[in-house]
Amino acid sequence: MSLVMFQSSSAGFVTFVGAGPGAADLITLRGLRALQQAEVVLHDDLAGRDLLENCRPGTEFVYVGKRSGCHSAAQEEINWLLVAHARRGKRVVRLKGGDPSVFGRLGEEIQVLRAAEIAYEIVPGVTAACAAAAAAGISLTQRGVASTAIFTTGHESENKERGRSVDWSALAHPGATLCVYMGTRRLGEIAQRLARQGIAADTPLLIVSYASRPNQAIRAGTLASAAALAAEAEDTPSLIIIGEAAAQHRASFAGTGSVREIAHASR
Ligand code: SAH
Repeated sequence: MSLVMFQSSSAGFVTFVGAGPGAADLITLRGLRALQQAEVVLHDDLAGRDLLENCRPGTEFVYVGKRSGCHSAAQEEINWLLVAHARRGKRVVRLKGGDPSVFGRLGEEIQVLRAAEIAYEIVPGVTAACAAAAAAGISLTQRGVASTAIFTTGHESENKERGRSVDWSALAHPGATLCVYMGTRRLGEIAQRLARQGIAADTPLLIVSYASRPNQAIRAGTLASAAALAAEAEDTPSLIIIGEAAAQHRASFAGTGSVREIAHASR
């Protein structure tokens, strides 16, 4: 479901806009129009700051990025701000990195709007997995190689309900491309779990950092070299791609060696 709208008595309106992975020209035209018409924009760290230059003079910008490492309090504050600005009758844009519906806490914000009977719509965006695949020059699904692409997280919130955590044994499938968000810190452990489930040590693995941005970097290796690659990429926004589909990445055109790094200048 890419677009949801419902009627409401309140005058305000919230548009969730996917900002894309970072490059300012990877937002959709619809998302750009929403930004141009916005009266209030709530934005955070990953949503490209360059995009805010498209807003009209007089637009109110509200920064709601991570504060003092206290995630849940910040999320409650964001929820409250969304409702408060919409209740003032404003056209509110909630700008989110990538696609709003992928690891973006969109579900929580929607619940709050529904409870407050505030109308909203969702404008999709280019999610990091797709941007990372594009950067590496690969296809996430591929006939005869990968019939499944899985988006999962390597970082789970501590208050995760029992039974809802990532089941790595169920995800270990040779015909799948695994796209791991927020996974660099735990990649060594994830690789071990996948190996225990029978995923071959020489399965190709890519870590794409800052996909689509000028400082984009692609690290290529295998499941066996995962921990070493992850240590290099730690603390950068990185997307991990694991599976045979990753074998055709750009770096594999040149020379041999299981680990190499290429940095692309922005075009
Ligand atoms: N809604 C976003 C994901 C938010 S979770 C989306 O659809 O892309 C944040 C995680 O996304 C980061 O930790 C990283 O794993 C990934 N990510 C976001 N932007 C990225 C980028 N430009 N390059 C690589 N990974 C990125």
